[in-house]
Amino acid sequence: MPARREVLKLMGLAAVLAATRPWPATAAGGFAVMHSEAEWRSLLSPAQFAVLREHETETAGSSPLAHEFRPGIYACAGCDQPLYDAATKFDSGTGWPSFTAPIAGAIGTSRDRTLLIFTRTEVHCSRCGGHLGHVFPDGPPPTGQRYCMNGVALLFHPASATG
Ligand SMILES: [Zn+2]
Repeated sequence: MPARREVLKLMGLAAVLAATRPWPATAAGGFAVMHSEAEWRSLLSPAQFAVLREHETETAGSSPLAHEFRPGIYACAGCDQPLYDAATKFDSGTGWPSFTAPIAGAIGTSRDRTLLIFTRTEVHCSRCGGHLGHVFPDGPPPTGQRYCMNGVALLFHPASATG
């Protein structure tokens, strides 16, 4: 009975979608920095809100931080928690700021199956839950990881010139 098989397939698909919604951590709460949606909208620019709170992805090459290679610290645009040291940044050629490793404890990850066939690992700030980007296992040494970040979700704090 092909019709019944199709229905079962659709039910399976629905179950997968229900089980893999892209915002599990926030729904469960538990972040040190939490705001209502209205508060986030007043704190962030529209572009920052779209990425950090709604999992949008900025256009490749749109962030000046993709071409920023001075020493310093990249912090979360939502809560200013330090996320990446510039020493771990590399030019991935993707048009997005890319890093080999985060600062210890700075990020959390979740499974992102919104594209169904293509499973990605979502990366968010461990302090406010803001969506930052994704991590892929095709980065350079020493970790082999490529943390592909939205520049608009980051604040760059250059190292002091005198330091
Ligand atoms: Zn944050």
